[in-house]
Amino acid sequence: MSAYHGERYLTLNELYERYQSLADTYPQWIKLESVAQTRAGHDILLLTLSKRTDDHGVTLGDDELLTRSALWIDAGTHAAEWAGVSGALYDVERWIERLSGERGEEAQKTEQRWFSEHAIYLMPLICPDGYDALWGNMPYLRSTLRDKRDDVIEAGMTTHDLDGDGVARWMRWKHPAGSFVEDEESVGLMRGRRLDDDPQNAYFLCMEGSFQLWDGVKWEEAPRPWVEGLDLNRNFPAHWQNFTMFGMDGGAYPLSETESRAVVDTFSARPRIAAALTYHTFTGALLTQPYRKNTPLSKGDIRLMGAIGQQAVTGTGYRVIKIHPDFVYDEDAEVVGVWSDTLSTVFGVPGYTLELWDPFKRNGLENPHPAKFFSDPDPALLRALTEGFRETPNAWSDWTRFEHPQLGEVELGGLDFMMTVRNPPVAELHEELIRSHQVAEQMRRTLPSVRSHLSVQALNVSMRPFAETHDPIETRDPVETRDQRQLYKLSLALENFGFLSTSSLEQGERWSHCPRVSARLQLTGDQRLVSGIQAQQAEHLGGWGEASLGLGGLSPALNAKGHRAVFEWVVEANIGESASLYWSGGRGGAGDEVITF
Ligand SMILES: [Zn+2]
Repeated sequence: MSAYHGERYLTLNELYERYQSLADTYPQWIKLESVAQTRAGHDILLLTLSKRTDDHGVTLGDDELLTRSALWIDAGTHAAEWAGVSGALYDVERWIERLSGERGEEAQKTEQRWFSEHAIYLMPLICPDGYDALWGNMPYLRSTLRDKRDDVIEAGMTTHDLDGDGVARWMRWKHPAGSFVEDEESVGLMRGRRLDDDPQNAYFLCMEGSFQLWDGVKWEEAPRPWVEGLDLNRNFPAHWQNFTMFGMDGGAYPLSETESRAVVDTFSARPRIAAALTYHTFTGALLTQPYRKNTPLSKGDIRLMGAIGQQAVTGTGYRVIKIHPDFVYDEDAEVVGVWSDTLSTVFGVPGYTLELWDPFKRNGLENPHPAKFFSDPDPALLRALTEGFRETPNAWSDWTRFEHPQLGEVELGGLDFMMTVRNPPVAELHEELIRSHQVAEQMRRTLPSVRSHLSVQALNVSMRPFAETHDPIETRDPVETRDQRQLYKLSLALENFGFLSTSSLEQGERWSHCPRVSARLQLTGDQRLVSGIQAQQAEHLGGWGEASLGLGGLSPALNAKGHRAVFEWVVEANIGESASLYWSGGRGGAGDEVITF
């Protein structure tokens, strides 16, 4: 199996075979499982990348993997955003390359250590049905298919490939009532008709397709809310509301869809996930908080997320954009039901949408207000964007005549939007995935990382004669026990070496399922707790990130939250016996210790 570097886009079968083959080849690092099945019977996969065996090669249980601080990555919320789906695979392949020593011994050692303390959970494709349908002859889909409803009549023009070249391009036919004319400056490009344009030059222009349930008269676009209209990224719990935009909606209620529910169930069952990336296209930007004016996030969390974002995109050419106020389609409309917002406001982790691929930048252009481009595109920018792809292989096709079964003679041609604007042309995919991988690499450096240090100190205290305690053990083995009975001071220090605190964001402390910082002592036999409380909880531990953003040299200060916690006990035990300790370092990890007296 040769490594994948983004040489091309993969079909659903190719993609899933690839993941299966990685899991089969590297079982010591990869666990691949199906977390749900879609309407069409496809698996929604989850890949866990972490050290899965102990030092003796024995496979560890899932509980063991759940103790590790983790990064979440997903892709394919939107069926047509293939670069993101490719990016997730690219990430796994690069990490496996380093883990298996193909990038040298040094890299291998570093990664083996990292992946024995941390995990990466990766959902390769959230909407397999939609993705698969788009590889077939399906009209454009936002996310996934859903059940049709008898009461909704989808009459009108629907997009699909008519001439069998595998691409739904543009379709035009001349008519004096048309709304478009050919652009004077750019051959073949269409522009909006103006009042003084000659009606003889006017065209009707739409996506390649045909009329469904047609009355033979009306040239209208079909409303298609039950097929293409579901936007899964409006179906998540954060600030969910009934929503429609561009003919899309956010589902019947939060998590009404199998796919969104699988995402949230899978994520929440892994509470030590401390940071997250969800891959989309296109804009070439990392989208950050706040999502609205009345955000539930603290100023500190918003600032921290912005700062992580800036460091994550350094060197990639990507921008960091705050959703509010810079990435809203309409300033008065709330952004509702988005997954990355759910990640931060519900689960309290820094969760980012990464919009791969900037088709504007690629053509030397600037698109300062990406969201506005959808609702109100600047015609000059649109022209320049199209011009930029004219020489790209297979991107542009000149208008060619086609005998339409319903309309008679039409012309098909124009830009393949899917492989130019929405996703990079195949030859440019590899370069794009280098960028997104860099962001993923930075993101995993943010994880909280808690290590433990246990000290066991014998106290030099003379014991009472053992007989006076009337301990029943005396009847079993009085002499030996008396000789070896001793007091010990146990001290467990937990220390966070990570950027993020052990709750990730401050918001994490408000999620009731966020793992706490605690320690529990498990004594055996006749061991006795002399002082200290058997199970203890501490405040979350700060990370180094927060203070690093401060005024630094001008007004240096320590973090408001310390990065260490210490738990202490005094125990009476026999020499040579052992006891155990379980500790939890919040989202920074958990572990246990064996104490030998
Ligand atoms: Zn998207």
